[in-house]
Amino acid sequence: MVMPGDKLAVSEEFLPGSHVYDDSGLLRALSVGTVLKDLKKREISVTAAAQANLLKVGDYVAGQVETAATSNSSVAIYYVNGKQTDKGFAGMLMLRSGRRERGPRAGPPVRLGDVVRCRVFSLLNGIIHLSIDDDRTGVIFALCGNCGRPLQKGGNRAKCVECGNVEERKLASDFGRTPIQP
Ligand SMILES: [Zn+2]
Repeated sequence: MVMPGDKLAVSEEFLPGSHVYDDSGLLRALSVGTVLKDLKKREISVTAAAQANLLKVGDYVAGQVETAATSNSSVAIYYVNGKQTDKGFAGMLMLRSGRRERGPRAGPPVRLGDVVRCRVFSLLNGIIHLSIDDDRTGVIFALCGNCGRPLQKGGNRAKCVECGNVEERKLASDFGRTPIQP
């Protein structure tokens, strides 16, 4: 098990793989996890699997949507139960969640760049599985896709007071309230 910043190797020995960075010739871990050496590719990487002892099922995390595909999106986690973390966690949010109550034709519940609060529902295989199924979870801050201003709450939707644009999201119950409570 390594912690972020731990020295893993020197760059003459290995190439930096995932969750590893080159710190002027020293390869260091970017996240908590276990070290994996691929001797064929001469690559050293860290499998971020240590979350189990730092995160637990039922925790609330907040972060930003980094990638959004059709079925899932990746969330960079910056807060765990309201406290800031610099552990470099990334969670996986299944985008089907939260859709049931919004109707089958609802658009994506989150979009790239949204700030979201999620609940950890599984840590299976070292992957942080996130859900946005309860009232407390969902988008807590989002920018208008049209003009880039912060969206406000307009009923069940997110509305831009600047340009009138209305966007669908799975909103947390406190969406639009400032200051944001992670
Ligand atoms: Zn707008």
